[in-house]
Amino acid sequence: MLGLMQNQQLLISNLIEFASRHHADGEIVSRRVEGDLHRTTWGDIAKRSRQVAHALDGLKLAFSSRVATLAWNGYRHLELYFGVSGSGRVLHTLNPRLHPDQVVWIANHAEDEVLCFDMTFLPIIQAVHSRCPMIKTYVAMCDTDKLPADSGIPNLVSYEAWMGSQSAKYDWPQFDENSASSMCYTSGTTGNPKAALYSHRSTTLHAYAAALPDVMCISARDSILPVVPMFHVNAWGIPYSAALTGAKLVFPGPAMDGKSVYELMETERVTYSAGVPTVWQMMLAHMKANNLKFSTMRRTVIGGSACPPAMIKSFNDDYGVDVLHAWGMTEMSPLGTLCTLKNKQLSLPPDAQMQIRLKQGRAIYGVDMKVVDEAGNELPWDGKTSGDLLVKGPWVVAEYFKGEGGNPLIKGWFPTGDVATIDSDGYLQITDRSKDVIKSGGEWISSIDVENIAMAHPAVMMAACVGMPHPKWDERPIIAVVKKPDAVVTREELLKFFEGKTAKWQIPDDVVFVDVIPLGATGKMQKMKLREQLKEYKLPSLG
Ligand code: AMP
Repeated sequence: MLGLMQNQQLLISNLIEFASRHHADGEIVSRRVEGDLHRTTWGDIAKRSRQVAHALDGLKLAFSSRVATLAWNGYRHLELYFGVSGSGRVLHTLNPRLHPDQVVWIANHAEDEVLCFDMTFLPIIQAVHSRCPMIKTYVAMCDTDKLPADSGIPNLVSYEAWMGSQSAKYDWPQFDENSASSMCYTSGTTGNPKAALYSHRSTTLHAYAAALPDVMCISARDSILPVVPMFHVNAWGIPYSAALTGAKLVFPGPAMDGKSVYELMETERVTYSAGVPTVWQMMLAHMKANNLKFSTMRRTVIGGSACPPAMIKSFNDDYGVDVLHAWGMTEMSPLGTLCTLKNKQLSLPPDAQMQIRLKQGRAIYGVDMKVVDEAGNELPWDGKTSGDLLVKGPWVVAEYFKGEGGNPLIKGWFPTGDVATIDSDGYLQITDRSKDVIKSGGEWISSIDVENIAMAHPAVMMAACVGMPHPKWDERPIIAVVKKPDAVVTREELLKFFEGKTAKWQIPDDVVFVDVIPLGATGKMQKMKLREQLKEYKLPSLG
């Protein structure tokens, strides 16, 4: 017997229509590329999302066509979130920090047909457009009078001219909630970048879960400034949860330095924020140097990389801000665990509470997790035994876009590439990473890409890229190199060889010449052993 409740599909268009009916006057404040502060409301965002949907229909874009963005956090980007997905197309948020060659590869792989970009990124568009044959329309996210006359980009229109005259009434199409809604590429594993393809259902369920009190606790009383970019896993789902709850959103645009973010937090009475540790480091340094305090800020989610204990302590003790340590992945929409205390832990002494809060937290309902040994046997939840972390749930990938990399699942579980312990209260702690990648300032650096560039140098016989601990960036890459017999090359020459071949921040900090790189039985480089060999090594920038 089936239940007799209404079978309404969980669609992203429902989120924005709900926002429009129930908290139309909720504020959305954005620092724009032009430098000014723009103010609008959820009601207006809904209206303009419908106009975006009409404009996309006008381009005759088929259901599931990809519409890419290359943009900061701002109101136009928010409108695209709802207009693109709501009208049945797939929002593809491109990462502007990548090298133009990587942008070209990803845009072509995604088969993007429209690209909407902030004017800051015009030089990237100029560098890539001739190599992206599928993109038919470029939309500059600016006012009509800000459109450059001589950009050299064919079919360039300004966002306002493109959508501004469209009708604000739109009948959102109804379709299967499992239809694709948005996509995000990750270079978090070896090989080519792979895309997680989210659905309306996965996004809506994640939005509900993210708003729960023991998760991000997002409510209509919050003024939220997502520092995490909208191109990084949909700003961790905050825009959707905010539409669902009616929270105020404050977007920093391109002004991401500590001073600008702090000032915006104060003027817009921000209560809540989210971002990777590196951005907070910059803000805390600014606040400390200028003896500043927060007036309204109470909580911040920190994830993407392990949050340093000193940061949690400083936020708590010096600024009265509760840090919610979170763990997740692009492949998980992204939230997996979040660290909040249980009732029985509230009476523990502060030090004992801190030990818990340093962990990545407990699974959110909707995510199941386990740690396993090499044979795949589940390990005990004792807080000591570490193993490979596997997850499953309705907002975890089943496979990558276009089947890239084959079936990633192990008996229905997704292997995260992280190594962790879980304690008897269900708190996860990430202890290591089995995947061969480096995360610097919250952004991935593919060791394979770095190694391939080094190997193209005539003097290099073998090269292995590994991450070294760094207090600001979490990790920075270095490259260990075995020279060809009799070859002569200096550290400086090799570092120079990287210039122009990859994004600047992906260039290794140092070259270490070694006699051998440890290899396993199958000839694979053993990075764990190499890291062990280099354990006394210090990055040049750390003296
Ligand atoms: P991304 O797909 O870019 O979101 O990166 C996900 C990966 O970042 C995870 O698999 C972890 O390796 C790492 N990560 C995310 N959050 C944390 C955290 N709180 N502590 C340690 N590593 C983290």
